[in-house]
Amino acid sequence: MTTLAIDIGGTKLAAALVDSNLRIRERRELPTPASKTPDALRAALQALIAPLQEQVKRVAIASTGIIREGSLLALNPHNLGGLLHFPLLQTLKDLTGLPTLAVNDAQAAAWAEYHALGGEYRDMVFITVSTGVGGGVVSAGKLLTGVGGLAGHLGHTLADPHGPVCGCGRVGCVEAIASGRGIAAAAEGALAGCDAKTIFSRAGQGDEQASRLIHRSARTLARLVADVKAMTDCQCAVIGGSVGLAEGYLALVEHYLAQEPAAYHVELLAAHYRHDAGLLGAALLARGE
Ligand SMILES: [Zn+2]
Repeated sequence: MTTLAIDIGGTKLAAALVDSNLRIRERRELPTPASKTPDALRAALQALIAPLQEQVKRVAIASTGIIREGSLLALNPHNLGGLLHFPLLQTLKDLTGLPTLAVNDAQAAAWAEYHALGGEYRDMVFITVSTGVGGGVVSAGKLLTGVGGLAGHLGHTLADPHGPVCGCGRVGCVEAIASGRGIAAAAEGALAGCDAKTIFSRAGQGDEQASRLIHRSARTLARLVADVKAMTDCQCAVIGGSVGLAEGYLALVEHYLAQEPAAYHVELLAAHYRHDAGLLGAALLARGE
């Protein structure tokens, strides 16, 4: 059965049909309304799904933020603006009249990556390192979402009590140090104002400060992996995101993880999906798979 999958991000909205073989068809995109008002989002979603919704029997949503009882929340309310408490689930139910499921995008991506492992593992974690650091935990073959939707927000665990203030309001979160934004924010002198992508390319050209910033991110991520191993006894950790999949990054995380005691070592794998893990994971969850 075909599922209408919708991905709601801070900058763009995507929708696609996901068929029973997990193939994505008729992918469409629109910018997330700059006004970030509920009316604008509702109108944009309606325009996005109108050409697709007649072809499906159910809807699956992966969204940025925390999904609590079908509504949008965020650890950093500034990210959502006027969309805080937006009734995501009800809006899509009203627009389509179809059974609808909504889940956090990193949780959805974790579920897609778990599926991609093909049943080899029952306990895994997914960590995406890009602009922020997100995650999802699968324990005994089940995706943990939590009663309030917060489960797996691994980027907001403590990395350094003397570190920078995170967007969520805590001091020294993993995200504030290891993410692309965290890497860029720590750049000084010749690298001040550069984004993470530029800093990676400078590191490739031998720039010492750029290399130090990337090592700091990878070391922070390795410690997070060790913490998560201690908490979940995961059999593998899948790493994704534009920073996580940047050339050489995973090898650096492996290097720093190897310096932790052996009990905290765990197999690190590069994410299988690059862009559509959220759409696919949400579709899988809606199908009960
Ligand atoms: Zn945080």
